[in-house]
Amino acid sequence: MAQMYFYYSAMNAGKSTTLLQSSFNYQERGMNPVIFTAALDDRYGIGKVSSRIGLQSDAFLFKPETDLFKAIETLNSEEKRHCILIDECQFLSKEQVYQLTEVVDKLHIPVLCYGLRTDFLGELFEGSKYLLSWADKLVELKTICHCGRKANMVIRTDEHGNAIAQGDQVAIGGNDRYVSVCRQHYKEALGQ
Ligand SMILES: [Zn+2]
Repeated sequence: MAQMYFYYSAMNAGKSTTLLQSSFNYQERGMNPVIFTAALDDRYGIGKVSSRIGLQSDAFLFKPETDLFKAIETLNSEEKRHCILIDECQFLSKEQVYQLTEVVDKLHIPVLCYGLRTDFLGELFEGSKYLLSWADKLVELKTICHCGRKANMVIRTDEHGNAIAQGDQVAIGGNDRYVSVCRQHYKEALGQ
């Protein structure tokens, strides 16, 4: 039975590394995985998933208007696909998460999604909200705060290292940085 997985975490928990390792494992067994990533994440160039420890792989891009069921159905009809890996899945829309459930339920291909649970304001991303709601398996990838506790929150800081308490959910470009911290240090950073 194919299933949908949501691997979620704060920043810098090794999501892309875990995704690329899964892709490698499938290929090693002679299987054919497909990787997608969000078109808005162009840190490492268009159409690539890169991990901080140096691994990288080509990827298809999804945009807000991409119909992922149709895209994957077409790829699968050209050549059998054994697994779909989605990086930056917090940027999926509700419709796209639904389309991915159809990939699992109608095409019987497992879908593994990797992304952030919440933004720097502690709010769920749209993609994460529906993945938490509809995925078969929820798997937390853990990372730690500077104090050693589990980091489940993300702080956005400006170029001086000060925590930012408002702004758009997605900041493209600019000098903002993201730091993963525990909830207590999140509150402290925002002066709560
Ligand atoms: Zn802490």
